[in-house]
Amino acid sequence: MNKFNRILLKLSGESLMGEQGHGIDVKRLNEYALQIKEANERGVQIGIVIGGGNIFRGLSGAGKGFDRVKGDQMGMCATVINSLALSSALDAVGVKNRVLTAIRMEPIGEFYSKWKAIEAMERGEVVIMSGGTGSPYFTTDTGSSLRGVEIEADVMLKGTRVDGIYTADPEKDPTATKFTDITYDEVLQRGLRVMDITATAMCKENNLPVYVFNMDIVGNLKKVLDGEEIGTYVHA
Ligand code: UDP
Repeated sequence: MNKFNRILLKLSGESLMGEQGHGIDVKRLNEYALQIKEANERGVQIGIVIGGGNIFRGLSGAGKGFDRVKGDQMGMCATVINSLALSSALDAVGVKNRVLTAIRMEPIGEFYSKWKAIEAMERGEVVIMSGGTGSPYFTTDTGSSLRGVEIEADVMLKGTRVDGIYTADPEKDPTATKFTDITYDEVLQRGLRVMDITATAMCKENNLPVYVFNMDIVGNLKKVLDGEEIGTYVHA
């Protein structure tokens, strides 16, 4: 039994760096591919959005003198690079998949549409939706909220390197405690930076629940699909 039938899996670009601290760590990439393969084999329909923070972020680029819009466009291209890397890793383990792009760039990937994504998922393909929202001043968290709502996912599974949402940053504050579940409003009121405000508001307004968990531990995606409570559930 699967807890969810259709998921939007958000992977951060930063996690793709693995232990090497930059670029794409092949070990981490392959671990993700194998976890996704397992989920695909149990019949879960999977849409994926990947960040680009391991390569470029528009906001930090702006801090170094880059034009913000061009910097964000570089960031969106970075998400396409990561998406192609994941696609290739999925090919290598025999998982049918396709990359769609929010900005036209055939033949790298077909231009995104909700219908293309749903049709492919219904055929059993994993669909990687790259390029974020296609617009600057957004993040891939917002991109994944948007795509999650569009493809009518049951949940957004937000894979991070911590195992859920805490009262404070557990890497800085040892007294921080973890929530097993929390409402969108409380996330916003407490200013918890699990996702940016736009992404949280998008999920709230469209009633897309979010499950935050540590995707970097192999086997955790399976546990979430089995219904094990290993992370934090964000809901209305
Ligand atoms: N980006 C954008 N619009 C979007 C999604 C992403 O402009 O809809 C740019 C933005 O510059 C962002 C970068 O792409 O910093 C990489 O995405 P993000 O920071 O969300 O990646 P992550 O933190 O998940 O690695």
